[in-house]
Amino acid sequence: MTSHQIRQAFLDFFRSKEHLIVPSAPLVAKNDPTLMFNNSGMAQFKDFFLGNGTPPSRRIADTQKCLRVSGKHNDLEDVGFDTYHHTMFEMLGNWSFGDYFKKEAIAWAWELLTDVYKLPKDRLYVSVFEGNEADGVPFDQEAWDLWKGIVGEDRIILGNKKDNFWEMGDTGPCGPCSEIHIDLRSPAEVAEVSGKSLVNNDHPQVVEIWNLVFMQFERKADGSLIPLPSTHVDTGMGFERLCMAIQQKTSNYDTDVFQNTIGVLETLSGKKYGQNDEPFADIAMRVISDHIRAVSFAITDGQLPSNVKAGYVIRRILRRAVRYGYSYLGFQEPFFHKLVPVLAEQFKDVFTELKDQEEFVTRVILEEEKSFLRTLESGLKRLDSIISGLKETGLNTIPGDEVFELSDTFGFPVDLTALIAREKSFQIDETGYQDALAEQKKRSRQDAAKEATDWVELREYDGVEFLGYDFEETHSHIVKYRKVKTKAGEEYHIVLDRTPFYAEMGGQVGDTGTLVLGSKEEGERRINIIDTKKENDLFVHISRDKNLDEALSGSGIVTAKIDIDRRNKIKANHTATHLMLSSMREVLGTHVSQKGSFLNDEVLRFDFAHFSKVTDEELRKIEDRVNEKIRENIALEERRNVPIQQALDAGATATFGEKYGDFVRLIIFDPKFSFELCGGTHVPSTGEIGVFKFISEGSVSAGVRRVEAVTGEKALELMRQQEETLNKIKDLLKGPADLIKAVESLIEERSALQKKIAALENEKIQALKATLIGNMETHSTFNLIVQKVDVPSADSLKQLSYELRDQVENLIAVFGAEIGGKPQLSVFIAENIVQETGLNAGKIVKDLAKEIRGGGGGQPFFATAGGSDASGLDTALEKAKGLF
Ligand code: ATP
Ligand code: MG
Repeated sequence: MTSHQIRQAFLDFFRSKEHLIVPSAPLVAKNDPTLMFNNSGMAQFKDFFLGNGTPPSRRIADTQKCLRVSGKHNDLEDVGFDTYHHTMFEMLGNWSFGDYFKKEAIAWAWELLTDVYKLPKDRLYVSVFEGNEADGVPFDQEAWDLWKGIVGEDRIILGNKKDNFWEMGDTGPCGPCSEIHIDLRSPAEVAEVSGKSLVNNDHPQVVEIWNLVFMQFERKADGSLIPLPSTHVDTGMGFERLCMAIQQKTSNYDTDVFQNTIGVLETLSGKKYGQNDEPFADIAMRVISDHIRAVSFAITDGQLPSNVKAGYVIRRILRRAVRYGYSYLGFQEPFFHKLVPVLAEQFKDVFTELKDQEEFVTRVILEEEKSFLRTLESGLKRLDSIISGLKETGLNTIPGDEVFELSDTFGFPVDLTALIAREKSFQIDETGYQDALAEQKKRSRQDAAKEATDWVELREYDGVEFLGYDFEETHSHIVKYRKVKTKAGEEYHIVLDRTPFYAEMGGQVGDTGTLVLGSKEEGERRINIIDTKKENDLFVHISRDKNLDEALSGSGIVTAKIDIDRRNKIKANHTATHLMLSSMREVLGTHVSQKGSFLNDEVLRFDFAHFSKVTDEELRKIEDRVNEKIRENIALEERRNVPIQQALDAGATATFGEKYGDFVRLIIFDPKFSFELCGGTHVPSTGEIGVFKFISEGSVSAGVRRVEAVTGEKALELMRQQEETLNKIKDLLKGPADLIKAVESLIEERSALQKKIAALENEKIQALKATLIGNMETHSTFNLIVQKVDVPSADSLKQLSYELRDQVENLIAVFGAEIGGKPQLSVFIAENIVQETGLNAGKIVKDLAKEIRGGGGGQPFFATAGGSDASGLDTALEKAKGLF
């Protein structure tokens, strides 16, 4: 079976068991404060398990793009070194939301593996949770009995809490799990050592392929467990490992999932995979063919490489790949981007988004590669200088903090530092490096520290109803709240059953406003809401007001009211963003697609794919077009609950990497002009925007530009400010008829004056020179000038010394000057004297500088020093006279 057929067979199998097949969520996690990237199939269904929403079907199956390079699951260091852990991989999964449980999950898993995929039964082992006394969770008898009926007791292994008890996080749903492992060794090896003894022992050919999680408990913040009202199934099977098993390989990289990219690497490097004496060449090919998937799909889903957070994770993966190519495959020039087309072709029927953005992804990677290769070079130079410095002192260990700095500042990987060090018979202080790293991790953990109490649940509810498209005020119930300690202080997080507050999403900031408890007669309590954020599908209203517990827990109904002035400005900016995108596509071309967006009540910021600077003329054209559409006063046409496919077929603009549901909302301002999938809030007609004005244009990263603009009142304010500045300048220039001409002539005058000053200063120096030569002391072997002079800058001391050298032989000249209140010294010694006598201007000036409480240095023939005590100048010069 090909990998395509294997994937399809999985989906078909679960479809036949009445599962709804859904698309993978984007790789980049949205609205989940605990997760940067989706790292398992269940991530996109969290809310259903938490009871914050209702799934579209009680049985679902899919293949999910996962990335395990940060947080709870981090496999990065193993990738390439072993043959079955990837950064990005596909997780095949089937779910039951309060529907079937252990019996069906186990039976179907077995049926699929042995009947459909025909994996050999005598090579499969399963594990069952052994129980944990401290948690009060018993041995999973039910799973044991079910498996016993299928595989027999001797194929079942008991697993502990670490391997066989799954938890969503510190709190939340959890339960025992049952894993399926496969033994892929040769018959001879199997005859020698039993596969059972190798399960969960990091053997590369005895690996876990499928994990079946049975959610039946909820962990509370105090650590206790309570049974869940309804039980769920969550399974995850590693697609690449499954392909290895079915295609009878012993490494994921030998399957057709990776062979295409490895083939290209072979051609580019002239090396054959698996036939290299140098083991690192094979590791490099695995690393690169793995990492290109993670990097390409992350960029496709909207995560560009950058210096912070998720962007930094992607940048590090990319650099790891480029580095391995550089060190072990001889790639000194960019190569990584050349793999994108291969991947795009391979996945064009599965994850079409890569094919759609092939050119963009390729260019982003190319630019990143170029800049990293430059970094590598400067890192190498830095390393060279560290090593030669150490040589002088006779040490041969590079200190841990230097290794850390190389990696942290120069992006220079530690293993590369170690490798180069080894080549030069040096070593690195590994422990010192680990300490520096741990220290940094500790710092960032402290920065991110957040502590939350359990939710205090006040009433049952079935999902949050967002009413903010139609209402600015609602009567709502508080359904739950909790207290959270953050760096900014203590916060209350409040969830309502219905709310007009828009929660930050799709670039639009969250609403602010008030919750009013109680009535005027009985005394109101107003709670100030400073922000609204999404946590998965929950709308969390955030307040920094103090001591709200009593008010919140006692209350029934609240009036939730948003700050409508602020919201109106936000609306204008959001609609303006839509008009701007359509105008950009007209003016710049249809390749312009959204790469990031932020808008609040003051400004709109928009990042988009475009490969050159947007010229002033283009900006003006876009601006004109947007303002034209504002004046047309086009009415908003909003359509809710449109099936997604219907919307896309009709040509609606969607953003890559956004997670859309089955039903979407369409925002249309003239169907021929602006037609977008959008969950944000908009003005009823474009005229309300007033006016649109760009304020900046620039580059954010390779292939991505950023513009900022303002609308309405803010634009007016900006224009007023500019007008005021202009008026002030006019006043200062005494109201000239032609302002530009007046400024131009001011600049001309200034430069003419500067020339005059320079000429005068030069004249002064020439006169000074003559006096100095007149006062010169003549000795048999040298001519000495020691003098306090009046010159305009430290540079003049140099000029003076050099010009005198051209006129006087065997010159020694020491000058003191006060420049801008600060003492300055210079020492000049003719080069022939330096050579004959060994006198050193640098050393002399250092010594003299003590008198002016300063320091300095330079070369043996010319050196300068600055100081802070001008009263010492005369003493310094006296001292100088005695030296020669
Ligand atoms: P392992 O112990 O092998 O790292 P895991 O316990 O971390 O696996 P789960 O979190 O249970 O794995 O994930 C479910 C399945 O996903 C695993 O059975 C495995 O087939 C697959 N899987 C997990 N991590 C990776 C990875 N880094 N690369 C490829 N497949 C993986
Ligand atoms: Mg793991």
